[in-house]
Amino acid sequence: MPVRVAEIGIIGAGAAGLSVAWQLARRGKPPLVFEAHTPGSGAMTASGGMLSPAYEAQYEELPLLRAMIASRQRYPEWAAQLGDIGYVESGTYELALLPEDVPYVQRRMEFELQQGLRVEWIESSELRRRLPHISPRIPGGTYAPDEGHLIPELLRDRLVEAILRDGGSILSHTPAQRIEFLPGTFRVYTPQGTYEVDQLLICTGVPLAGLSLPFKVYPVRGQMIAIESPAADWLPAPVRYFNKLAGYGYAIPKRDYIILGGTAEEKGRDPSLTVGGVLDILRRAYHVFPDLYESRILRWWAGLRPATASRLPILYKDPSRPLYYVNGLYRNGILLAPLIGEGIAQWILEGELPAELQPFCPEVLSEEGQKRDL
Ligand SMILES: Cc1cc2nc3c(=O)[nH]c(=O)nc-3n(C[C@H](O)[C@H](O)[C@H](O)COP(=O)(O)OP(=O)(O)OC[C@H]3O[C@@H](n4cnc5c(N)ncnc54)[C@H](O)[C@@H]3O)c2cc1C
Repeated sequence: MPVRVAEIGIIGAGAAGLSVAWQLARRGKPPLVFEAHTPGSGAMTASGGMLSPAYEAQYEELPLLRAMIASRQRYPEWAAQLGDIGYVESGTYELALLPEDVPYVQRRMEFELQQGLRVEWIESSELRRRLPHISPRIPGGTYAPDEGHLIPELLRDRLVEAILRDGGSILSHTPAQRIEFLPGTFRVYTPQGTYEVDQLLICTGVPLAGLSLPFKVYPVRGQMIAIESPAADWLPAPVRYFNKLAGYGYAIPKRDYIILGGTAEEKGRDPSLTVGGVLDILRRAYHVFPDLYESRILRWWAGLRPATASRLPILYKDPSRPLYYVNGLYRNGILLAPLIGEGIAQWILEGELPAELQPFCPEVLSEEGQKRDL
């Protein structure tokens, strides 16, 4: 027998679902969240937690850059409200690995400056003063002082606490297998029972349990390695490094460890680590930080970034019912969490999306999701 349990249901307790759930609960509409496994167990806690609009910006994605900047600016307030999320305003470095990579990194700096971001060129000697463990072979790089990072597991924990405190509920190990649309209500079928809600938000990232979405989601695998930090303050800020043949990589300091990453592969839903992926990550990191040779590997994992065909977010409302979709947060779901949380709650409660999110809201869905030319 179905039970009506909440006005608003949310499927997926990841970066998007938890952020929106908290904002709805804060505004007096505590939702019921269905999670197939445990909160944050999708891409959220596989992520590096970088808050890096400048270095994530692609030349052709200006609306996404504007959304990332708007979301980044909300993090100090989110951190103050949520408590310890491991939030650090450290800035971020981007290094050229070889002399031939310098024009690329400088060209990106010009673009970032044109977009109003603060970023500066740092010569090799000054870089080594600030980052004493980088190789003397590094020819130079940039520093963006307004970037930061956080610890995704702590963000997950604080959001869950805040949702429960403000009256929301989270059903772990409760995959939504099927949804039925009835007049004035939605029926969510799970192995644990059937639930009825008046409004429904679906933010599953890469969807599980056979749930079908009205657009395609392409999983983009990222492999990650956590290594022991040789000393406190060994790495004062996230460092990204670029080589035009080998691609990019990054090292992100956490409290007593460092995360190394930098792969992006479309291999379906395969969450495996591979020899090639691990080799690429370690080889690039070793080129930049030769002192890491003796560092102990603590753990490694892979996660699936949810991408649309356009690689841009998709925010879609069914024209005939109170049914919302948020997906395609791809590489930036942690960075975008505050804007998504506040903006989607506003959309559901007041009917209007903030201006920064409107470019990602197609009136009509194409089979592939969203067109690239925003
Ligand atoms: C290796 C890696 C590194 C990253 N680094 C960064 C970074 O540094 N900075 C940044 O901003 N972003 C980063 N990201 C991206 C970020 O993690 C994602 O964009 C974000 O987690 C997407 O949020 P989401 O809520 O859409 O999906 P997810 O976080 O994956 O959450 C979706 C949730 O829905 C659940 N679910 C799925 N199907 C069902 C169902 N049928 N019923 C119930 N529940 C269901 C899943 O179990 C999951 O918990 C990284 C991602 C990866 C993989």
